Amino acid sequence: MNQTMILVFEFVNSIPEKLDERTLYVSMEYATVAHRCCCGCGREVVTPLSPTDWKLAYDGVSISLSPSVGNWSFDCQSHYWIVNNTVRWAGQWSKEQIAAGRQHDRQTKQEHFTAGEEAGVEKVTRGEPRPGFWARLWKWLSR
Ligand SMILES: [Zn+2]
Repeated sequence: MNQTMILVFEFVNSIPEKLDERTLYVSMEYATVAHRCCCGCGREVVTPLSPTDWKLAYDGVSISLSPSVGNWSFDCQSHYWIVNNTVRWAGQWSKEQIAAGRQHDRQTKQEHFTAGEEAGVEKVTRGEPRPGFWARLWKWLSR
């Protein structure tokens, strides 16, 4: 699974019921990107876009996602970057690395929201999906 893989992308209003392989579905409405796991296992990967989750870069021709996509909860445990529509395979992480990554994640979120409070920004408005997002996402995931 280490060959170069090029993805296509589609801007959609909402994530379609059936995802094609090698396709990134970008929904601005839901601030979410979804695709099928690039290893070919078929699992659907949902990457919410927010200041503390993933960031989407679109240069008019190709898209990139950061940070990397780590499918630790799937059997495949695949880990890759999506850079300019290209899948760059990253090494598998050890349990320790995954734990450290999650810890870092929590810290980043904490710092982000604390910084927001200090700046007088309402903390619920930043980095939080709009109301109903999770309900709709859940509905979509549990089809
Ligand atoms: Zn997979």
